[in-house]
Parts: sequence; C-alpha cells; structure tokens
Amino acid sequence: MNALAERIAKLIAVEGPLSIAQFVTLCLHDPAGGAYGARDPIGRDFVTAPEISQAFGELCGLWVVQAWHDQGRPDRPRLVELGPGRGTLMADALRAIGAAAPQFLDDGEIVLVETSPVLRAMQKEKLKTFAADISWCERFNDSLADRPLFLLANEFFDCLPLRQFVKTERGWCERMVTVADSALAFALSPMAANPTLIPPTRAEAPIGGVFEFSPASLALTEEIARVVAAQGGGALIVDYGYDAPGFGETLQAVASHKFADVLSEPGSSDLSAHVDFLALAQAALAGGALAYGPIGQGDFLTDLGIGPRADRLMAANPKEASAIAAAVDRLVNPKQMGALFEALALAPKTAPPPPGF
Ligand code: SAH
Repeated sequence: MNALAERIAKLIAVEGPLSIAQFVTLCLHDPAGGAYGARDPIGRDFVTAPEISQAFGELCGLWVVQAWHDQGRPDRPRLVELGPGRGTLMADALRAIGAAAPQFLDDGEIVLVETSPVLRAMQKEKLKTFAADISWCERFNDSLADRPLFLLANEFFDCLPLRQFVKTERGWCERMVTVADSALAFALSPMAANPTLIPPTRAEAPIGGVFEFSPASLALTEEIARVVAAQGGGALIVDYGYDAPGFGETLQAVASHKFADVLSEPGSSDLSAHVDFLALAQAALAGGALAYGPIGQGDFLTDLGIGPRADRLMAANPKEASAIAAAVDRLVNPKQMGALFEALALAPKTAPPPPGF
C-alpha cells in the first residue's frame, strides 16, 4: 500500500467503509497524496482539448462573446471557469475575447474556481500578462451569484465525486471501499439503499447493473442554472459522457495515458467517470434555466468555425501546418474526441439558443 492507501485504510478502520464519492475525493484532493492536491496530472496522465489546440479555448472565448452580445451586452459580466487546469483554455479565451469584445474584459471580471494549489500557481503564471481583473476561489459559491454569469467547464464534471449502486437480489446496494486481506477492496453495503434514491427508469436493471450518480455535479449544475436564470449569461460544459444512461460502471483510473487499477495506488492515477448529461440537463431545468444539447464536440466546434480558424493558423505558421491540422482533427474527428466528448449549454429561458446549439 502507498502512503495514501495506508491512511485511507486507517480511516476505514475507525469510521467503516467509505462511499466511492468519499474515496474519489481523497484520491483527487488529499493535500499530501491526491492526484490534484499534490501535483499536476495534466499531460502526465491525460491530455485535454485546450492542451491539444489553441483553437479550442479561442472558440470557447468567442462562444462567451456571442452569448453576451445575444443578450444585449449586459454590464459587469463575470466569466467563471471551473477547474482551469494549467490555465491554457482561459489564456486562449481571454486573447479571443480581448480581440472580439475588449469591453467585456474592461467592464467584467474573471474568476477561476480551483482547489489545487499546484495548478492555481500555474494558472497565475500563465495569466499574468492579461490586464483583466482575475481572481480565484476554491468552489462555486454565493459570491458568484450577483452578476451575469458566463461559465466554462472543460473536463471538470468528470472528476466530481460520484456514488455507485449495484442491483442485487436484496435491492440496490451502495458500492463501498473497505479493507480485505491488507488491501483496499470493493464491497457492497449490507443494507439496500432507500429506494427513493434510485430513479424509476432504473427499475428494470438486471442483477449486477450499476447506477451511478454524482450529487455534487447535480447540486452545482442547479446552482449555476439559478444564477444564469436570475442574472443572465450562460454556461458551456464540455466533457466525456453519455445522454442515454446504461447499466455499466464508468469510474476509471488513468495513469501515464493508460488505464490503471482504481484501488491499487490511490492518488497516483487520475480518477474520473463519464458525465450523465441527461441528469445535468434535468438539474439545469430544476434551477430555472434551459439546457441545450448535449451535442458532439466535433459538431459543436465545427459549427463555431474551427475549420476556418485552423486554416488561418496554418497560413500564419506554414511549418506547423500538418501539426495544426492533426490537432484539430483529434478534437473534431468522431473516431477521436469528436463524438466521445459532448457539449451541453445552459441559458436563460428568455435568451436565444446559445451559439453552436
Ligand atoms: N479544464 C482543464 C483541466 C481539466 S482537469 C483542461 O481542460 O485542461 C480538472 C481540473 O479541475 C483541474 O484543474 C483540477 O484541479 C480541478 N478540480 C477538480 N476537482 C475540483 C473541485 N472539486 N473544485 C475545484 N476544482 C477542481
């Protein structure tokens, strides 16, 4: 067992088995051993769209500008990014916003929501050349509720903690992490879960079927929707996920670009799960906003004009033309990230459909 596994085992000895959500939180955010708490996993374990091509962040920035225009350019807009990673998406977005709508930056403010001190330092460094009003906070909270909200979240919801329930002969039992034979192991709670936790659409699950849900994702989406509905603005959520939930489990560990065992080296791999876009859309409606999509990342970026943007970049950097084309293909091609990743947008009921949807 590594040091974090030993600490988790001690916690289990005192408090009993952990839910998958508690386990994921420790693996990702433990200040000493967590994948995000202690180091930067981006690039080492996995690569994200903004790290592949600058066009991704630029188009996200222009999406914000278009939505802001469509709503009559409200005063004092606030641009929030959830989980900004290395700050690359925000840097590319700010460059595009500064060129297309400098007034947005003069009048608005930027807030980055980031828990990891390591990544926060990288973001500060990356964004130090921008004159915009930029600040940081650890979580989305009420201080972000008093202005029009334009929110970006790429590969953020996939790393929010989720709970798992497995259909058994005695009902739906929660999947837990416990200790067996001196190692971390999965176990099912002996008591069946309260049936009201399980949506009626899951009633037909076969024995062994898994229901996953992320209370943190649903609560956060509803909160964002409330602000967007009350203040105006919009949210763009891009992630890998599904809009027709199955009965399989999607929690996965990735280390050095390869699948790894979820339990064996906690903190040394990135843990994530597929995003249930239908559930997020329902949470958005519950918060009083409209939800658009999800649509494939490839279609979304193509509609926003990634083709012409790539042409411009290639013309300006002829030596890198084939690398630029390959990077854009990776984002758009349905055999690569184009279909696996999807985009969901939230907008006020009174606003026109957001760009790309
Ligand atoms: N959006 C970036 C990074 C994706 S990785 C990109 O596309 O490259 C996930 C990011 O979310 C990291 O910055 C991580 O530190 C942050 N993060 C994960 N869980 C978080 C939480 N609960 N609150 C705030 N930030 C979180």
